[in-house]
This record gives sequence, C-alpha cells and structure tokens, in this order.
Amino acid sequence: MIRLGIVVPCYNEEQVIRETTRRLRTLLDRLISAGKVCDDSCIYYVDDGSHDDTWLLIETMAHENPRLGGIKLSRNRGHQNALLAGLFTVPGDAVVSIDADLQDDVDTIEVMVDECINGADIVYGVRDDRRKDTYFKRQTAHAFYRVIRLLGIDVIYNHADFRLMTRRTLDALQDYREVNLFLRGIVPLIGFSSVKVYYTRASRAAGESKYPLRRMLSLAWEGITSFSIIPLRIVTALGAVIFALTLLMSFYVIIIRLFTEKALPGWASTVLPIYLLGGVQILAIGILGEYLGKVYREVKARPRYAIEKRINV
Ligand code: UDP
Ligand code: MG
Repeated sequence: MIRLGIVVPCYNEEQVIRETTRRLRTLLDRLISAGKVCDDSCIYYVDDGSHDDTWLLIETMAHENPRLGGIKLSRNRGHQNALLAGLFTVPGDAVVSIDADLQDDVDTIEVMVDECINGADIVYGVRDDRRKDTYFKRQTAHAFYRVIRLLGIDVIYNHADFRLMTRRTLDALQDYREVNLFLRGIVPLIGFSSVKVYYTRASRAAGESKYPLRRMLSLAWEGITSFSIIPLRIVTALGAVIFALTLLMSFYVIIIRLFTEKALPGWASTVLPIYLLGGVQILAIGILGEYLGKVYREVKARPRYAIEKRINV
C-alpha cells in the first residue's frame, strides 16, 4: 500500500478551495477504504502568497481535518515554484499534483494510483480535448506545443502539471538545480517508467484564471529558452546567410563600378543594408542577452521559494 500525498498550489483561490477540499477528501476516503492507499495519506495546499483569505481557509480546514495540511510561501513565486515547494516538502511514497480550480478531473487520481501500484513511476495526466478552453487558449496552446516540438524539446502533448510521481523520481528531481523552472520539460528528462492517463478537462469551478496572457507567454518563453539553444543557432545562421549575400552583392557593385557606366550614387543600396544589418544585429544581441540573463540567474543560484508557515506537514 502506498502513502499518497496530493499537492495543490493555490493563488487567490478562496472561492474554490472549499469545494476542492470536499472533492479531494471524498476521493481520498474512497481510496483509503478501497485499500489502495494507506491511512496517513494527505492533501496538502501550497499557498503561493495569496492576497485573499486562502491561507486562513487552509488553516481552518486543516484544524478540522488531520488529513489536510498546508504550507505558505513567503510571497508569490508563481505556479511552477509553488508546485516545486509542495513536491519537495510533503511526505508520501507517491505525490500527485493537481490545480486548485478543479479543471483536472479528481477521479483520474484513482487511475493514477492504480498505475502506480502496477509499477509506474511517473503518471502523466493528459487532457482528452480542449473543448472547455477558450478558442484563443486552444490555439495558443497548440502553437506552443508545435514550436516546442520543432525545437526538439521533449514534452508530453496536452499534459500540464497534473501528474503522479513516486518518491524516487522526486529524489531525482531534487538534483535538477535550475532556477529557470519548467517542470513539464524536466520531468520527462528524469526517465523511469512512465504512463499516460487521459481525462477530460473541465472549466474552472470558481474564480478566475491566474494565467493571463502575459503569464502564459512568459511560461512558453521560459519553456523554450530553458531547454533549447536553437533560437541562438537560428540567429547565427541568419547572420551567416546575410553575410554571404552581402559578399555577393559587393562583387556585383564592384563589377558595375569598374566595367560599366551605370554606377550611380545609390541611396537604397547604401541605406537599406544599414537598416537591415542593424536590425539583425539588435535581434541577435537581444537573444544573446536572453540566454546571458538565464546564466546570470543560474549562477546566483537563489533559492526558488521560502516557506513561511506550515501546518500538519
Ligand atoms: N497558481 C499559483 N501561483 C500563481 C498562479 C497560479 O499557485 O502565481 C495556481 C492556481 O491557484 C491554480 C494553478 O496554479 O491552482 C493553475 O492556475 P490557473 O487555473 O489560474 O491557470 P489556467 O488553468 O487558467 O491555465
Ligand atoms: Mg485552471
């Protein structure tokens, strides 16, 4: 029998967290009485520096229920870091991470546990369809996975952060010390035996998405630049091609100048290349700077989160 920990990152989720607790407790009770997980399995909330009453609710619920615990981060560190804080803090032979907003199907956790009992080390929750997402989110998500595949990054299509990991895979994850965190890219790198389980993603049960466009773009950019240096190579290749073309053009200009009478002081041929090259150079420097910034943050090796309070953990 496995001891299960369920990690739920929360950022301003006061509207939904009671319902989430109700659903997760029902599930946990069922798993315990079915003899699939042991008695001291627990649900743990990670409060990612919420500004509303999320932590208060977590505390109240944890006092009422010993199978419920929580940690409070010292400030908002973002979903990925909150998740990591939870994964590294909670006890259990297997840990499931799930969003607080009930978009991921709670009952799929039972399927994950079954797979784990059958020997899987990592169980990915993959969503069947995105009908419940807005058209915009569907299209951007699709484009994101396409780009990331093109760049040769190994991620599971349509898998967010709903997954089960066993203790030894979490131990392996601890050795990935990067500060630029994109868990979806790192977990497949760990290896071990893995399976996918499919579920239908629902709409948010209550409250609003904490991933506005800005954050989605930032996660996508993080995912790409933390795992691939292909953008750098594209710029290098572009530079090389433009250099070769410029050489050819210079030959042409010299020939015109020496052997014909057509040579006119040309505005376009002077000014356009300046703009063109200027643009390319700035772009290249920008991308270089992006990676340099990452190196900068990695060498500082700042902690990824700080835990302010704990309850039942
Ligand atoms: N979340 C978090 N910190 C943040 C933003 C989000 O812990 O800074 C949590 C949030 O409470 C939720 C999960 O991450 O449990 C996913 O966020 P959300 O549902 O808003 O994202 P969406 O499903 O819209 O992509
Ligand atoms: Mg959501």
